[in-house]
Amino acid sequence: MRTIGVLALQGDFDKHKSALHYSGVKTLEIRTSEQLKKCDGLIIPGGESTTLTKLISLYDFYNSLVDFGLKYPIMGTCAGLIMLSSSVDDKRVKPLKLINATTSRNAYGKQIDSFIAPVEFEGIEDKVNAYFIRAPKIKKISPEIKVLAMHKNIPVAIANKNILAMSFHPELGNDNRIHKMFIEKF
Ligand code: GLN
Repeated sequence: MRTIGVLALQGDFDKHKSALHYSGVKTLEIRTSEQLKKCDGLIIPGGESTTLTKLISLYDFYNSLVDFGLKYPIMGTCAGLIMLSSSVDDKRVKPLKLINATTSRNAYGKQIDSFIAPVEFEGIEDKVNAYFIRAPKIKKISPEIKVLAMHKNIPVAIANKNILAMSFHPELGNDNRIHKMFIEKF
């Protein structure tokens, strides 16, 4: 059975664990690089990319996350997308540069501007309800990046090789189809 870690330094990791559980894999909360060695896939959940950056540096975790992402599948959601991207419009964030995309923090607005939108997602039959909460916008992607979902003509889910990233929260709303697809296809 595969073991998928959920980065549990901060943020919304618990709901990802349930979505994975219902997708038939073993899950582990990851806080150290030692724990990461037991996994063959990882989710970087939403939260605050500035705080995630601080904690990753505090626990000296940066290089092991990058090395992991060069070998194994990683799915990043919301702040997780920011962390996976190659460049961010906020100097306080040190992204892992695992997918060639530029992201802009909070570009969909504040907490009060949060919204849910049905989006078509490649590889998933019916639309998924995408939850955008202080979400980052994907501003630029390089040509090799695949766009899996769009909202108002802006990519909201992208992939390249073993990396899957989206600006919304797939763990909300009792729908584990994106987690399942991640496990089956990445
Ligand atoms: N605004 C957060 C950030 O910049 C992301 C929000 C989220 O993950 N829901 O890191």
